[in-house]
Amino acid sequence: MARPYNFSAGPAALPEEVLRQAAEEMLDWHGSGMSVMEMSHRGKEFTQIATQAEADLRELLAVPANYKILFMQGGAIAENAIIPLNLLGDKQTADYVVTGSWSAKSFKEAKKYCTPHLAAGALTGPWLAVPPEPTFSFSADPAYLFLCSNETIDGVEFHALPKAPAQVPVVADMSSNILSRPIDVAQYGLIFGGAQKNIGPAGLTFVIVRDDLLDRASPLCPSAFEYKTVAANGSMYNTPPTYGIYIAGLVFQWLKRQGGLAEIERRNIAKAELLYGYLDATAFYQTRVEKPFRSRMNVPFFLKDESLNDAFLAAAKDAGLLQLKGHKSVGGMRASIYNAMPLAGVQALVAFMKEFERTHG
Ligand SMILES: *Cc1c(COP(=O)(O)O)cnc(C)c1O
Repeated sequence: MARPYNFSAGPAALPEEVLRQAAEEMLDWHGSGMSVMEMSHRGKEFTQIATQAEADLRELLAVPANYKILFMQGGAIAENAIIPLNLLGDKQTADYVVTGSWSAKSFKEAKKYCTPHLAAGALTGPWLAVPPEPTFSFSADPAYLFLCSNETIDGVEFHALPKAPAQVPVVADMSSNILSRPIDVAQYGLIFGGAQKNIGPAGLTFVIVRDDLLDRASPLCPSAFEYKTVAANGSMYNTPPTYGIYIAGLVFQWLKRQGGLAEIERRNIAKAELLYGYLDATAFYQTRVEKPFRSRMNVPFFLKDESLNDAFLAAAKDAGLLQLKGHKSVGGMRASIYNAMPLAGVQALVAFMKEFERTHG
């Protein structure tokens, strides 16, 4: 039987091929007699898995040689503290662009370590756009410029990177749009995120950091969270989330088989255009984010008559369309259409929405 389409914002759907391969390899990985969960992280089998995963991620994103790829734990929320602990050095401030709930949270956490400066955006919602670049006001000497490339809850995405002042490294939370399109890693000082949106299972955090930024950590930074220490130990200073790295590695292989990020971007654009196109054409549903900043990954939408919300969700579930409820801070619905969501899933969603409109409009 076909599995339902799962529109969860995260932990989110994985490619079915990956789940099947993991199931096949569950009891005995490649004749080793062990599950990946049962292997020493320092043994030759897991070393091979981790080395391949890192190499594939490096290839997919064309990560330059002077950047380290780190596999850590703690998720993006822990990184909100780990980043200032590692990057502030002797500076007193960092600039934050706040375009949604996640970057607002990052700003708030940074207050424990410095006096963050709000360079653009607002600390409270609704967030419906990225502010125009000429209105950005940078501080005199920030340690870095922080932004969230895709606000998972609010559905606001940067489709172009704003220009940071010279020498100021850009730090980006890419939890929910990493690997959804090609990016120029060299424009960033640090890219990070949790894996559970567009890469793999929860529990794995990825950090891609330029190596000249590794020397600024506060003496109070926990060793397991000090990028320099983690990098020097090949992400094995402490035991890394081994099974998460393995599944992420299978997803990277899957992405390569699909044709890499240029092809994935083409598919992601087609999926987003189909869904937004329908939302624009009907008055039964609404979407609020301004057009140039609409996320390709997370599509919040609302029924005009919100008293139908429960009926909509129940009927969607019956139709094999799962986890469409919006985040509680925004309300309404949200369809997350990450890399693992096929075009057929979005077609099924739009067909369902049209039918629901026909029977309830
Ligand atoms: C999900 C998410 C987070 C939080 O990640 P955790 O793994 O729960 O720490 C932070 N930022 C963005 C953009 C997210 O999508």
